[in-house]
Amino acid sequence: MSFLNLTMTATVIKANCNGCKLWLRISTIILCCASPFAVSQQLFDDLATLTSPAHAGRSAGSDEPNLSAQFLFARFTQLGLQTEYQRFSFKTGFTSEATGHNVVAKLPCNTPRCGKAIVVSAHYDHLGTKGSKIYAGANDNASGTAALLALAQQLKTAKRYYPIILLATDAEEKGLHGAKHYASKINSTEYALNINLDMLALNQKSTLYVMHSRTAKPYVEVLARLPVHDFKLKLASSPQRMRRLVGTERVDWLKASDHYAFHKAGLPYLYFGMGEDKHHHSVKDTLEQIDFKKYQHVVNFINDFIVALLDCPLDCTS
Ligand SMILES: [Zn+2]
Repeated sequence: MSFLNLTMTATVIKANCNGCKLWLRISTIILCCASPFAVSQQLFDDLATLTSPAHAGRSAGSDEPNLSAQFLFARFTQLGLQTEYQRFSFKTGFTSEATGHNVVAKLPCNTPRCGKAIVVSAHYDHLGTKGSKIYAGANDNASGTAALLALAQQLKTAKRYYPIILLATDAEEKGLHGAKHYASKINSTEYALNINLDMLALNQKSTLYVMHSRTAKPYVEVLARLPVHDFKLKLASSPQRMRRLVGTERVDWLKASDHYAFHKAGLPYLYFGMGEDKHHHSVKDTLEQIDFKKYQHVVNFINDFIVALLDCPLDCTS
């Protein structure tokens, strides 16, 4: 990982310069950078955990929170966020029902003037197993879920004019049930925005798509001002535009992920994703397929965007 590379480079420089000022300067740079690099190692570890055989493809529908839900609960709690499970039922047939568990982690506003809440969602469930085959769902959507944990780590020390809710939803693959349940329980007038993360591991096109509702335009202007490293950013102001940009005639991008539930509840939304993935819903959607460096740049970019939003006093985007 980058962290190891940097440490090795520093050791070589130290050996060559015999305690000169340069070493002091480099040490300072390394110390300053310690937090982001530690986060990137953690990001990789979280992705590896969520896609590991023990998590068995993170299938939704167990009476108690599954291993993935417990892992997320523990990680958010360990980071100091106020965390709870949100239990819900969903239909699996004409008469049958199953139970799902959202994991909801909160960071309150920490300034004297507080705006409406921003809810950042990513579904943690995937397809589970079929016989001996495990559907790891690394891109769909361990990538978005691990990003939530990285955001928790970074945003907990940020200046926040808005409360932020990091929501790991369950049973998305079976009909966006976790997001629909969450959206049905909120007072939408207390929420400013939904940011939905689903499939953040960029493929060869190196393109991150951000589809948004018209009502999210002031937030998109903040996003468009940020520098982008190592990938292209394409903005889609409607599902039709998204379809044309990605080149997918069959996909209804409005209903394709959890942002739809928030859109139905009247919230502006921004949906971050990599578009079409040839390994989507196949056993090949594995950790090994992920270009971690690109993925990390995407997560950093989303973090920078949310930090910019949170650090913006009330109505600064209007
Ligand atoms: Zn998904």
